Amino acid sequence: MPSTPSRKTEQSRRLRERAESMIPGGVNSPVRAFGAVGGEPPFIVRGKGSRIWDADENEFIDYLGSWGPLILGHAAEHVLDAIVGAACNGTSFGASTPAEADLAELAISAFPHIQKVRFVSSGTEATMSAIRLARAYTKRKYIVKFEGCYHGHADALLVKAGSGVATLGIPGSAGVPEEFIQFTLALPFNNITAVEHAFQRFKHQIACVIVEPVVGNMGCVPGVDDYLVALRMITEREKAVLIFDEVMTGFRVAFGGAQELYNIRPDLTTMGKIIGGGLPVGAYGGPSEIMNLVAPLGPMYQAGTLSGNPLAMAAGCATVKYLREHKEEIYPKLEKLSEQLVRGVAAAAKDAGVTLCANRVGSMFTWFFTAGPVTDWESAARSNTEQFARFFRGMLDNGVYLPPSQYEAAFLSAAHSEEDVQETIAAAKRAMAAVRG
Ligand SMILES: *Cc1c(COP(=O)(O)O)cnc(C)c1O
Repeated sequence: MPSTPSRKTEQSRRLRERAESMIPGGVNSPVRAFGAVGGEPPFIVRGKGSRIWDADENEFIDYLGSWGPLILGHAAEHVLDAIVGAACNGTSFGASTPAEADLAELAISAFPHIQKVRFVSSGTEATMSAIRLARAYTKRKYIVKFEGCYHGHADALLVKAGSGVATLGIPGSAGVPEEFIQFTLALPFNNITAVEHAFQRFKHQIACVIVEPVVGNMGCVPGVDDYLVALRMITEREKAVLIFDEVMTGFRVAFGGAQELYNIRPDLTTMGKIIGGGLPVGAYGGPSEIMNLVAPLGPMYQAGTLSGNPLAMAAGCATVKYLREHKEEIYPKLEKLSEQLVRGVAAAAKDAGVTLCANRVGSMFTWFFTAGPVTDWESAARSNTEQFARFFRGMLDNGVYLPPSQYEAAFLSAAHSEEDVQETIAAAKRAMAAVRG
């Protein structure tokens, strides 16, 4: 590979071998193993701002951002202060603490349709609970999801899922009995006719439609035209619950997520990633009329030993409060730098004679190695993943850390600078030379 300079991997290799002897694949989440891109996965020991360092002391400009949460960059000082401050007072009580209402107030201020919100510890729990709640509210069984969307790893949602499921090329997951997914309808994204047909076929039986309002988990794929508006109209007409899974897009594509960006009100919103400021937090919320069904007020059961954990609430509050106070500067800056970066890398591809389709909404984006347009799972899957893998490895060798899969979104943070962007484009020029192969 002509892309110099190369990185040292000796320590990471040693750490991987040790981890592999005890942890399946050496990882606690599948895509981290680099199965789709090859090469030695760096073991990360430190991060600051836009940069991370691995065990071999290689430095990378990071566009993974912990898969989305780190919109303020690594080890943001006021977030660290909040976490340390909370930790000094004890790490968990299993009783209510003041910070839970602080974060609830921040979530409600970002998402005006939310009157009540419940905190959990992951995005998976948030979507799983929101679906249980939608079924409790409508007393219906069927759920609609879209091919290539990922909503965490609950049984009923592991059908034609995106993210790692798509990366590994498996249709669903072993260990999920057919009976557990018999009420899950997986439809093509950006296809309203398919949704209309499902509601005709399963009249009065569909509890909810869950959607990533900007898909990040088959790579970045926005809704076309009035797709989301149509989903809102149909669900309203059919008295089904519309769930916007804003685990990735919340506080990312705008402070108030995709629903603010596109001015559409879902019935339920799920959150995660940024709302935890790098600690494990998820949340689901909506109008009191629905949320009052959640125990102890109502019959829909959902609980968590570490839910509303004080460290996690402190990190979430520090992050979201900062975003709220600085949103007028932060989101335009994210937009400007992301636009420069995505355009610069696309130009580098063009110069190298590589076919690329760049999709971007704000600071989430994907370079698909296909002519495009990429609007759904079928068109995303036409990407040349061999070329992506070569690009990924070339970027890594040139000091840029991207998500290790074609079917994931990359993120820029408020800690990234114009120099970071220029350095990344220069790395892309070198990496693209090796892509055509
Ligand atoms: C990451 C993600 C999830 C799952 O969140 P976890 O915290 O990984 O369980 C759910 N939905 C979307 C849209 C996500 O991006």
